[in-house]
Amino acid sequence: MSDYKVKEECGIFGAFNDPAAARHTYYGLHALQHRGQESSGIVSSTFDEQMQQPVMPSYKDFGLVLDVFDDPAIFETQLLGNAAIGHNRYSTSGASTNRSNIQPFVVHHRNGNLGLAHNGNLSNARKLRDRFRDKGTLFQTTSDSELILHLTSQSDEETHFEQIRDALSQIEGAYSLVLLTDDHLIAVRDANGFRPLALGRLGDPDQEGGAAYFVASETCAFDMIGAEYIRDIEPGEILVIDREGCANGGDFDSYQIPSKHGVSQCVFEYVYFSRPDSKIFGEMVDKVRRRIGEELAREAPVPEVSEDEKTPIVIPVPDSANTSTLGYAMECQKMGLRCRFELGLIRNHYVGRTFIAPGQDRREMKVRCKFNTVEGLLRDRTVIVMDDSIVRGTTARYLVNMLRESGAKSVHFRVSSPRVISPCFYGMDFPNKSELLANQFEDADEIGEWLGVDSLAYLSVDGLMKAVHGANKQDHGYCNACFTANYPVPVDMSTTKEENEWQV
Ligand code: SF4
Repeated sequence: MSDYKVKEECGIFGAFNDPAAARHTYYGLHALQHRGQESSGIVSSTFDEQMQQPVMPSYKDFGLVLDVFDDPAIFETQLLGNAAIGHNRYSTSGASTNRSNIQPFVVHHRNGNLGLAHNGNLSNARKLRDRFRDKGTLFQTTSDSELILHLTSQSDEETHFEQIRDALSQIEGAYSLVLLTDDHLIAVRDANGFRPLALGRLGDPDQEGGAAYFVASETCAFDMIGAEYIRDIEPGEILVIDREGCANGGDFDSYQIPSKHGVSQCVFEYVYFSRPDSKIFGEMVDKVRRRIGEELAREAPVPEVSEDEKTPIVIPVPDSANTSTLGYAMECQKMGLRCRFELGLIRNHYVGRTFIAPGQDRREMKVRCKFNTVEGLLRDRTVIVMDDSIVRGTTARYLVNMLRESGAKSVHFRVSSPRVISPCFYGMDFPNKSELLANQFEDADEIGEWLGVDSLAYLSVDGLMKAVHGANKQDHGYCNACFTANYPVPVDMSTTKEENEWQV
């Protein structure tokens, strides 16, 4: 891939006690499209009058939400019922062609139907899979989410809920889950709380039957349907949403998964992945991301220029660096440094994943098709260009070249995160360690030379953590393993990216 952005591997949504459950799930998934673009699916729960039993119809396919659900009749004739779960999936190349990997999964189980949508990676998936294989279990998918279904169905516990709890006690790693039974919507966050998951509500909790309740990876999905954010699903929490709880003003049963490794929410969600208009881990992403930019301004401000020079401009690599760049430019101004926030790079939003870029230098053409410069702004200026992270660096290098070709007097690169030195094993898709730009050079100066910039500065790990804790006063800890190689939950470092493709 030419322009490697770290990718989330899923967005999840659930609706309960809601006459428009599937439709709201569709809108929620659309708001969560950035968390996965390979495939999308919805499973609902309803009672089949002809069969006289509860059923879980599903509709899923490869593609974006708006393309998969392009026929309104799907919601009127198929995805019926007052409860639904949905899933957007991003997958790395190998597994993406396997249709059976598209979530949510549904199984018919001795205690009823069970639907599941998962965001994350299980770190003990290989061990569990080997155990099942030895017992002769047949797998239908190459996703480690299926393991949760097998663990549930093979549990010796009595009730459906106890079987699910038994399954959850055996998995490790990163998982935010929504599970749909014939009577419940169950929302789960792993004990470390790697991935975000929030609870929302629509309607009056005191009305007969109570309000409708929702869970979503990010709160922007609630905004889409007019629901209000109630709270986060806590790290290690199993929240059981049922009709009784809805009728009692949202008084739901909640259980705790024992914690072995503390809490380590993914700091990369704040750096890059989540939308700035979402609240995750209890705080608005916009606020945290601005604070990250401010911290970088204190560590590596804009260069000072002489009075007779034009005002230096600070430009983001759009769109993901927009918010942190605003924070950076404003803080530099507060520090008395002459600079101005500008939009010097314009992004074309219509470059799909299937873009082929025929011709000799396909990589460069891909970058040029995605970004263009605003030449009038850049000519004879000191330009400070900012991105949220550099993973492989190929895009950054082309962008620097484009800025120079547009007449920038000097180009200074600022990165609102530390150097990415290690892959993620908790639900984000990274290249292998050797492919990470930071591992190919001794220090930032050497990287800067390769990029062709006049100066390069990354935010320090301490600076990042200071910014995040400063903006979000919660006590919970964070994972920053991709910047430090300190993995909060043990991982098998010998697992290659290709083996990870087995996983969700
Ligand atoms: S390794 Fe990085 S991307 Fe993965 S969970 Fe930790 S902070 Fe997030």
